[in-house]
Amino acid sequence: MSTLVQLLINTFGKDSVLTQAEASGRVASNWTHNENLDCLALLRPKTTEDVSTMLKICNEFNQSVVPHGGLTNVVGGVVTKPNQIALTLERMNEVEEISVHNKTVMVQAGVILQNLQKLLVENGLLFPLDLGAKGSCMIGGNIASNAGGLQAVRYGVMRNLVLGLEVVLADGTVISSMNKMLKNNAGYDLKQLFIGSEGTLGVITKAVLKVDDLPKSRNTAFVALENFEQANQLLQYARKQLKNDLTSFELLWQDYYNLMTSRPSSYSPPLPQTYPFYVLMEARGQNAEQDKAVFDELLKNGWENGLIADAVMAQSQQELDWLWSIRENVELIFSVHSPVFLYDVSLAISDMDPYIKEIKTELQAVWADVHFYAFGHMGDGNLHLFVSCGLDNAATKHQVDEIIYQPLQRIGGSITGEHGIGLEKKPWLHLSRTSEEINLMKTLKRALDPKGILNPGKLLPD
Ligand SMILES: Cc1cc2nc3c(=O)[nH]c(=O)nc-3n(C[C@H](O)[C@H](O)[C@H](O)COP(=O)(O)OP(=O)(O)OC[C@H]3O[C@@H](n4cnc5c(N)ncnc54)[C@H](O)[C@@H]3O)c2cc1C
Repeated sequence: MSTLVQLLINTFGKDSVLTQAEASGRVASNWTHNENLDCLALLRPKTTEDVSTMLKICNEFNQSVVPHGGLTNVVGGVVTKPNQIALTLERMNEVEEISVHNKTVMVQAGVILQNLQKLLVENGLLFPLDLGAKGSCMIGGNIASNAGGLQAVRYGVMRNLVLGLEVVLADGTVISSMNKMLKNNAGYDLKQLFIGSEGTLGVITKAVLKVDDLPKSRNTAFVALENFEQANQLLQYARKQLKNDLTSFELLWQDYYNLMTSRPSSYSPPLPQTYPFYVLMEARGQNAEQDKAVFDELLKNGWENGLIADAVMAQSQQELDWLWSIRENVELIFSVHSPVFLYDVSLAISDMDPYIKEIKTELQAVWADVHFYAFGHMGDGNLHLFVSCGLDNAATKHQVDEIIYQPLQRIGGSITGEHGIGLEKKPWLHLSRTSEEINLMKTLKRALDPKGILNPGKLLPD
């Protein structure tokens, strides 16, 4: 056993430091589940002070450390090498304070998103971040990834939901910026530096989050559309009619809808499979009767004015689950095709239709039998793309990446709207960021982590 691991065990005890052998029974990723963890040691701090001392020791030994949350990252952000130490926040999982009056909650970084959501519901409150990985992902990981999710069209992304943050720097310095106010202009807003930093600038240990009143109504419809322009007009119309109650506006291209509603999928199609586009639209408000009337009216007017070709509204929890499963059951793609490359691009809504047509044509020109699926958070300008061309090697992946990413530079889009850069997108960061921006990121990294021990090799190009 290395001197460092022995020192860590002596300082924190066996319970807080798992050796390489002890950690090897755990999965390395809750997304792929295909490998076990292989790291020098796995640190399991219980307090911020533990994190501080652990990082101080590792920094003195020039030991690299990879922060681990719920391990649902999909771009290699939590990949840990055998000579690296992993630090999991799993034991820092307490909700420390719920303020119904101030609409804030103070949480430790290891709280699982779904657990927080459930606890808040019991208090009549809502934490609006919602995503498919909610049963495993942790608040610290959500913050480090600036997660978006299914209700961002109304509530924004983690950047909009975090009021205060506690972070431990690489040398063990604790930066406590646990602000609870909406407005605080006393100098730089330091928390924003760490939100979306993917574990490269500090370890997030605690946060103050903004919460909202629990909505009293939920109206959800699946809508079929004749063309993209209808989807665009429907979105504008829904924003106008539903105002701030519009919580989700998810667009599905036909291929994706048909895959999700045909065998081996267990979900039947709520609408005929013949339309080129489908939208899953949801509104949540505070007045059940009035909200239902406004939603019904929206669908009726949309149909009468030629914005909607067909529609179905969820009438029960079972139907609600059915409609959402068609949007969310992405795992199905991986059981039908292999390998599958996954993307989460961002772009202006007006660019979506031509962009999808352009890349589909290019993909088909190279691989005639390529499988290509597009869907996503149209209301947020963020789409998910899945590509399967039957080949699984680095050169093919690079070629597909190039087809997907290159046009985004021309139209001012982003190579990632949600998943971050991690390892996978490092070669393409320059398409979404200028060299001056990347140099400033590197300067910040050097200032906060001069020895480069925190999640080295991720996010920033070498
Ligand atoms: C099925 C599925 C659906 C998803 N849907 C969405 C979606 O709709 N929207 C979206 O935005 N994302 C989505 N994601 C990806 C999303 O980013 C993650 O699910 C989630 O936000 C990451 O949280 P985690 O706790 O699993 O973090 P991890 O995967 O453990 O870590 C993510 C990154 O943050 C770092 N990190 C983790 N914890 C800390 C900490 N305490 N301090 C500093 N750094 C830390 C890690 O080093 C890593 O770089 C999805 C993923 C899956 C598998």
